[in-house]
Amino acid sequence: MPKQHDDCLFCSIAREGAYVHKGKGFVAINDINPKAPVHVLVIPERHVDTFREVGAFDARESKRMLEFIAETAEKVGLRDYRVLVNVGESAGQTVFHLHWHILGGGPGSTADVPSAVALAEVEDE
Ligand code: 5GP
Ligand code: ZN
Repeated sequence: MPKQHDDCLFCSIAREGAYVHKGKGFVAINDINPKAPVHVLVIPERHVDTFREVGAFDARESKRMLEFIAETAEKVGLRDYRVLVNVGESAGQTVFHLHWHILGGGPGSTADVPSAVALAEVEDE
């Protein structure tokens, strides 16, 4: 198991969550507060605070992470979807363990997907 933080929510979820998809080094879960009809989070098992530190993944892991995002979207039935990462508090990041949002409107559809999820959240505060 890669290095983890004891007090990190997504480290715990990566260890024992209810996955919609799991691969070597990565898990995907349903977002607890979905912003689209399908809203999945892709979480690397390895703890990295934000996307700023994406260089902590070597070339193979980075490729695998991107492939895992695409595989996850396909697995949950999405053909068209958005992939989003909030980087830092003022950009809407609330959980400081790197994660990728996959947002979609259902199989073959892009309907009902908010166009600016992170911005809308920041403006609401
Ligand atoms: P961020 O705002 O950091 O980009 O995204 C964090 C996401 O994690 C939010 O969309 C939020 O709804 C989701 N989230 C927070 N706590 C939990 C949890 O305990 N379980 C799940 N499945 N999602 C969570
Ligand atoms: Zn973590």
